[in-house]
Amino acid sequence: MIAEICRLQPRNWPCRARPALGALVALAVIAGSAVLPGMGGRSSRAAEADRRPNIVIIFADDLGYGDLGCYGHPTIRTPHLDRMAAEGQRWTDFYSAAPVCTPSRAALLTGRLPIRNGMCHDTRRVLFPDSAGGLPADEITLAELLRECGYATACVGKWHLGHLPPYLPTRQGFDSYFGIPYSNDMDRTPDSPRGREAFWHPKIEYFRCPLLRDEREIERPADQTTITRRYTDEAIRIIRQHKDRPFFLYLAHNLPHVPLFVSSEFAGRSARGLYGDVVEEIDAGVGRILGTLRELNLDSRTLVVFTSDNGPWLTFDQHGGSAGLLREGKGSTWEGGMREPGLFWWPGRIKPGVVQDLGSTLDLLPTCVALAGGKLPADRTLDGFDLSPVLFGRGPSPRKTMFFYRDTRLYAVRHGPYKAHFLTRSAYGPDAEQRHDPPLLYHLGHDPGEKFDIAKEHPEVVAQIRKIADEHLSGVTPGPCQLDKTIGKSPRKEKRKPAKG
Ligand code: MG
Repeated sequence: MIAEICRLQPRNWPCRARPALGALVALAVIAGSAVLPGMGGRSSRAAEADRRPNIVIIFADDLGYGDLGCYGHPTIRTPHLDRMAAEGQRWTDFYSAAPVCTPSRAALLTGRLPIRNGMCHDTRRVLFPDSAGGLPADEITLAELLRECGYATACVGKWHLGHLPPYLPTRQGFDSYFGIPYSNDMDRTPDSPRGREAFWHPKIEYFRCPLLRDEREIERPADQTTITRRYTDEAIRIIRQHKDRPFFLYLAHNLPHVPLFVSSEFAGRSARGLYGDVVEEIDAGVGRILGTLRELNLDSRTLVVFTSDNGPWLTFDQHGGSAGLLREGKGSTWEGGMREPGLFWWPGRIKPGVVQDLGSTLDLLPTCVALAGGKLPADRTLDGFDLSPVLFGRGPSPRKTMFFYRDTRLYAVRHGPYKAHFLTRSAYGPDAEQRHDPPLLYHLGHDPGEKFDIAKEHPEVVAQIRKIADEHLSGVTPGPCQLDKTIGKSPRKEKRKPAKG
């Protein structure tokens, strides 16, 4: 059976855009309109507007499961996120859809596993400044679906789904964009210090990341010491601007991804050091955003979600975060790579508490579209579930299973409390992947750190998860790869390696 699973891996997927992509895009745009019927006219939209929540998704970069006070960190102070957790729901088993940046973001915004839309690759694991591709135009994003429901839409922060004009947020359903279009460690200047020195003592000029306003570059290199504050300022500006209509704000911070930058106001404040300073500044920004919603009496009409794109980048020592008691971190399909903090806040509507059900960033699109009264695309496979029953205390999570892909390969499957690893590999090491037959099996309730393999004691669970994996893979058609297209000469051919996420 393990051979069957390996055979079924969507490995030999087409990695070149199909010649007829343009035609497909055009068709999909038409189809995209066709799958959103029943939204009603403008008058019915107006009547429903006050029942629809505003939606704010705050997405941290490389923040670990153990990096917030409300998730047990002993020295990083996050009073605003802790309050958000206390007033709303704190999920203990909430997952990003991938262990690195680009596929994780594609999954959140489309509600689809990255293998389906080509936003993953086994060696070029994320997009780089020399990348020529991005999220395909025929993918339907959460912003596009909410815009169809009459929402104002804004993207603030890290995009990382294609930095060339055809792929920017303004082409994917967002009315406006303000941010750095990829990771904050990219565009490193040739004369910056070699190796890790540029990270241990970072300077703005070492990383020539552009800052965009919509599709126009307004600053380069972006002043990263003020970027968290400026993203928060922009988010508050958007909230005030759209206070009288439903809005969707996607705020994706560039930090605490390395290199770590912090404003003078927060520098040196945290007992955790620079990494703690950075997280505490993000927390303060969340406090300002929630405070603005309260001031405008929008708190009872706004769903705010806080999570992270992938686990902590452990290879950066004290500049990387913590996955707490979970195993491994960013880049890995062990729990630390993909289990994230997951907070949901909507005072007066969400039933406060700690939720131990399964949830994923894949579920945000169906959940938000349901809350907005929209309809999901019917012409494609979605991988998410509407989590409303859990948010409103009406029932358990519809998600029972989580698939753990490392790039294009299915490495592990969680079903209920059990997780089976068919393949493993260290997050960034030079080692090859290891196949396991029987798979490694862990009970994540008893053993969240994935230390004690119990496959031999539970052959029936192994058989069940194998069947789930086989059925899943038989239904996956890989999309044309978007991460292997490059612009001209690749800077990755230089000996200096850029960061992988
Ligand atoms: Mg990341």
